[in-house]
Amino acid sequence: MEQYDVFVAGGGMSGSAVARFAAEGGLKTLFIEKYKTPRTKPCSGIQFPYFEKILGVEIPPDRLCNKQITRTKMYYHDGTSFSAPFKVFNYMRKTFDDWLNILAQESGAEFRDECEFVDFEEVPDGVVVTIQSKGKAPEKIKTRYAVDATGLSALPLRRKLRPQDFGEKASGGGMNYYVDGEADIDPETLYQFWDLAFSDAMFAWIYTKTLDDGKDYWCIGTGCVAGDIRERQDLFYDFVKKKFNVQGKIVETEEFLTAIDIKSSERVWLGEGRILMVGDAAGLLDGVRGVGQDAAALSGRFAAKAILESDRKGTTALEEYAKLAKTITTQTKKNQEREIDQFRTNEELKKYLKSSLFSTGIKMMYQSFLNKFRPIEKLRLLPP
Ligand SMILES: Cc1cc2nc3c(=O)[nH]c(=O)nc-3n(C[C@H](O)[C@H](O)[C@H](O)COP(=O)(O)OP(=O)(O)OC[C@H]3O[C@@H](n4cnc5c(N)ncnc54)[C@H](O)[C@@H]3O)c2cc1C
Repeated sequence: MEQYDVFVAGGGMSGSAVARFAAEGGLKTLFIEKYKTPRTKPCSGIQFPYFEKILGVEIPPDRLCNKQITRTKMYYHDGTSFSAPFKVFNYMRKTFDDWLNILAQESGAEFRDECEFVDFEEVPDGVVVTIQSKGKAPEKIKTRYAVDATGLSALPLRRKLRPQDFGEKASGGGMNYYVDGEADIDPETLYQFWDLAFSDAMFAWIYTKTLDDGKDYWCIGTGCVAGDIRERQDLFYDFVKKKFNVQGKIVETEEFLTAIDIKSSERVWLGEGRILMVGDAAGLLDGVRGVGQDAAALSGRFAAKAILESDRKGTTALEEYAKLAKTITTQTKKNQEREIDQFRTNEELKKYLKSSLFSTGIKMMYQSFLNKFRPIEKLRLLPP
């Protein structure tokens, strides 16, 4: 049986970070991805400038979309709006995660795509994991640590350890339509629509994205905690078509369903024994901040560092991981208590958003400045 120090299920944002930093630290690492890479991932692919600090590398321009976001415009349910400068990275996850997979391999991690996590069994000094490459028989490997980095719709390791976190059926999700055509939309603006009919999770959105053919498309999407994501998406799309005079057709659809109960008070969970959770599998997608990739990459980096630290100090990786991830887990748990599905009407939501707009803007500038000097363990995720 092949032996590893670290096994990672999932080749997305968090999995690639664990693999890269573990391999850089000299740990024998295997990370696997269920789909053939580069693979698509339903996501809006927006991140703050501090993302490069989290990743520890500069993002090459050819991994970004043609248009970068420079402004945001918030719309309330009654049609009133607010606009402000807002610089964020804009990329397609297919292109971006492919780059992260390559970086991890260049650091020495072994990678297999079209390879699926099947099962695990804990043994006294580690974990025996069963994986299966497409068209091949299941195979067992032995690892000192196993990491679940499979995102919100899979979580097979977490599912086995904590079945109570999973409902009978998916409790929410997200959708994107990519639209080709003319519209009265500014391609460098991120449009946010705060309306409980479109989304009870955060805002519904419009951005410009570059697809595989190198051309730009309108990306129109939404997410929800409860209800049918397709109904909400179609309601929003009809609204956008009229409001922005969209003359075009949908060329691609992305859909994402959540397997875990994201309203559970124990959603943020870092693992047990030698099995660690990272990214969305650790419950770190934050509906209040409206993003999750920063926490995913950061938690992946922390998990790798925790294993290295525990080897050095003779402590457990889980306790080191909990210490390193304290700032982000505390922030995510606190935000979970103020998600927007607490509002019964759009008027209440608007009042709340308007009252916090000014202070959020100030905090955003202040914390962005401080983040430049903070070590990654102390980074305050944005918006604060
Ligand atoms: C519609 C939508 C829009 C979003 N927009 C943004 C945004 O603009 N900015 C932002 O920061 N966040 C955004 N997010 C959140 C962000 O996508 C996630 O927080 C982030 O991708 C989490 O990374 P991860 O590595 O934990 O999981 P993922 O990126 O989901 O990666 C998990 C990987 O595991 C693989 N996998 C699954 N099961 C198995 C298995 N059994 N074996 C092997 N591999 C497996 C999957 O194929 C996948 O590649 C959005 C999410 C959605 C749904």
